[in-house]
Amino acid sequence: MRRKLAAGNWKMNGTGPALAELESLAHTFPDPSVDILICPPATLLHRASQTVHHTGIAVGGQDCHAATSGAHTGDLSAEMLKDTGANSVILGHSERREDHGEQNEDVRAKARTAMDAGLTTIICVGESLEQREAANTLDIIGGQMSGSIPDQSTGENLVVAYEPIWAIGTGKVPTLEEIGEVHDFMRARLERRFGEGVGRSVRLLYGGSVKPSNAAEIFGVSNVDGALVGGASLKAEDFSGIIRALEGA
Ligand code: PEP
Repeated sequence: MRRKLAAGNWKMNGTGPALAELESLAHTFPDPSVDILICPPATLLHRASQTVHHTGIAVGGQDCHAATSGAHTGDLSAEMLKDTGANSVILGHSERREDHGEQNEDVRAKARTAMDAGLTTIICVGESLEQREAANTLDIIGGQMSGSIPDQSTGENLVVAYEPIWAIGTGKVPTLEEIGEVHDFMRARLERRFGEGVGRSVRLLYGGSVKPSNAAEIFGVSNVDGALVGGASLKAEDFSGIIRALEGA
């Protein structure tokens, strides 16, 4: 059985006062039946992990460097994330791919280092609107999965998030059939590459304009094991609605 996961990506949002949202979340879910992960900006990671210490909530980073240390001004290593108390890291988010020109091989190198450091990596894949309209979605997702996911992946250290770029922060969401088609395809790819045991144990998240109002129907889709949530993870009240929907799925 794959344990469901509600992951929040705060992106470049939040300073100290935002930790109150984490406190509120921990208070609302003293004993969650799903995994809850918040990925705040790196500046809040240490305080965030202290805030959720001894609760059912984990914290994670939003990126890390492929090298373990060295002359990389402004970057953070996987070990450094670990040192803050993080247990996970998001890699290859479309905003990183777009803003920082990250290619699949960069994401794969980062994922290797993160897995070696003992972090769970959430590797993001997703097509642009143009690619969807040209009926290239599955080719794009397949290519991103082959290129970004390292060979050492297991059900413990890998989570894959399907995030159509055109659905991120736009309020637009694919149809349930479209989500199901991609998630079934991703499951089949993982089983083919890693064998049934590992392939079936990797969690697959959907991300892109998930809200309390649409979460339950999305969680009802086959091979959707949870969500990666941007905007609606910033407020405990909104994220709680999504977590409740996942607990009920
Ligand atoms: C994201 O950026 O990972 C995301 C899914 O954002 P949003 O939920 O705001 O669409």
